[in-house]
Amino acid sequence: MSAVEDLYREIILDHYKNPRYKGELPLPALKVEGANPLCGDQLSLYLEVREGKIHELRIRTLGCSISQASASMMAEAIKGKELKEVEELIEGFKEMMLNKNGTSMSAEKLGDLETLQGVKKYPVRIKCALLPWNTLIEALKSIKSQKPAERVVME
Ligand code: ZN
Repeated sequence: MSAVEDLYREIILDHYKNPRYKGELPLPALKVEGANPLCGDQLSLYLEVREGKIHELRIRTLGCSISQASASMMAEAIKGKELKEVEELIEGFKEMMLNKNGTSMSAEKLGDLETLQGVKKYPVRIKCALLPWNTLIEALKSIKSQKPAERVVME
């Protein structure tokens, strides 16, 4: 294993062991649930948007280290951000995970998230990494449309 892979693994493990923004938020925060049945990952995202920014969020996860680390990194990356920036980040992250050639988003913007690209070597785990993000997409959709959020299930 290369030094970079070693470092990446360490960062992922740190998020897994010390998840950021873990927990729940009371109403009127929005709650959206997500699941990745293939791996058994489950997640509840609590989100409060104020003045177009992610004012507060918490995530409760049950699942593998990849899904939990991805949730923690996502929480850290979007807290306090404007929704437009959040949407850019979602796009950049999904591009990194799903495109063979990676993303055009800068490493600076991706921060710790960059470490998850090692997961691409294990295609079945990509869904684990994407679960928190797809749940976030549903949450933002619900906020914008003012319609209730649906449960997200990875297929
Ligand atoms: Zn998983």
